[in-house]
Amino acid sequence: MKRIVILGGGVAGTLTANYLVPKIRGEIRDGNVEVTLITDRPYQVYEPGFLYLIFNRLGEAELKRDIRELLDPAVNIVIDRATKIEAENNRVVTENGVYDYDYLVIATGARVVPEEIPGLKEGGHWFYNFEGAVRLREALAKFTGGKVVVSVMGVPHKCPVAPMEVSFILHDFLKRRNLRDKSEILYTYPINKIFTMDPVVEMIQPMFDERGIQYKTFFNPLEVDAKNKKIITLEGEEESYDLLIAIPPHRGAKVVEDSGLGDKGGWVPTDRYTLKVEGYENMYALGDATNLPVSKAGSVAHFQAEVVAENLAAEIEGIEPTAMFNGKAFCFIETGWEEATYIWFDYYTPPQPVMPSKFVHFVKMAYNKAYWLTARGLL
Ligand SMILES: Cc1cc2nc3c(=O)[nH]c(=O)nc-3n(C[C@H](O)[C@H](O)[C@H](O)COP(=O)(O)OP(=O)(O)OC[C@H]3O[C@@H](n4cnc5c(N)ncnc54)[C@H](O)[C@@H]3O)c2cc1C
Repeated sequence: MKRIVILGGGVAGTLTANYLVPKIRGEIRDGNVEVTLITDRPYQVYEPGFLYLIFNRLGEAELKRDIRELLDPAVNIVIDRATKIEAENNRVVTENGVYDYDYLVIATGARVVPEEIPGLKEGGHWFYNFEGAVRLREALAKFTGGKVVVSVMGVPHKCPVAPMEVSFILHDFLKRRNLRDKSEILYTYPINKIFTMDPVVEMIQPMFDERGIQYKTFFNPLEVDAKNKKIITLEGEEESYDLLIAIPPHRGAKVVEDSGLGDKGGWVPTDRYTLKVEGYENMYALGDATNLPVSKAGSVAHFQAEVVAENLAAEIEGIEPTAMFNGKAFCFIETGWEEATYIWFDYYTPPQPVMPSKFVHFVKMAYNKAYWLTARGLL
């Protein structure tokens, strides 16, 4: 009996399981293979929905599904928190058990660590986890005008384009509430341009200018003075705010760090093509958990899951795995309340954004509803 353990029930883990099982269903039925998914919460969260939740455009119930509804019935589901991956013993230790494996898939995602910026928890808001998004929704509903700072406080972070999107949607949200004239929006980014990819900067920066969205680059927050509502930066600046929407620093999962499997950010060193964990023939990593130079995006996790499932199925069948990840990513970019563009790119092809349109926005809104079909491996 070969045991495959998938750690993490987000997009990456769920899709890996749902793509893998149909390829090896006969082996599972005959008792030759067992697929177990371990995850620490009984539901999956659709994180892209946070961008809509904060403006009250999607409800909380639309962003969560029971993990059992999403997974192929042939997958054993364990709801438990893994505390250690013992790579040398081929086993995962959880709070309530021990799971031996022949193959392990690490899909434990990323976590936000606002505590790494002193004062941020007390003085700021964010929409990068459920609790933060719910709190920010309240703050935005009560906002009566003033200076909003949208500040990227560390890279890498999930969904690199979301800070630009939130700035655009906020601009229209304030206009719709007759508050834009009484408000400033300032977007800050840590490097010398407003985004890492030049074709995106060339499209987005003039759009910021047209809307009066201000920006500052080389802006690396060191601490937040919650009492005086100021951000203090490494560059020696002090920036005041009335409402701070931060993109907090991110790290890899705690279990990865505690198992000594992560780099200094807690990201799993992973081969960019095979998605095998470096130094381990029987371990794969994908999704936000890896150290790969690709966007931490659900679409990336999706494309990677196809590769991991195909290669694992080949290994089970005793065939040399040949599927390779090519760095593919697809991201919608909301550029207002009702308009959006999109980019796709891979290791070899840079992004080429198209003109924003209402149509692309409506496709994104439709995808928000259809996501749960994707998670089941149906779309
Ligand atoms: C505001 C926002 C907007 C976004 N917008 C988009 C978008 O428009 N398009 C897009 O493609 N992507 C978007 N993303 C990014 C996308 O949500 C993530 O890239 C995606 O969720 C990553 O999936 P994952 O499975 O790798 O990680 P996760 O979804 O984080 O899943 C990890 C899973 O592992 C579990 N886990 C962690 N540690 C343990 C442990 N010790 N034991 C057991 N289980 C554990 C967690 O509970 C979780 O279920 C957005 C993200 C945010 C925050």
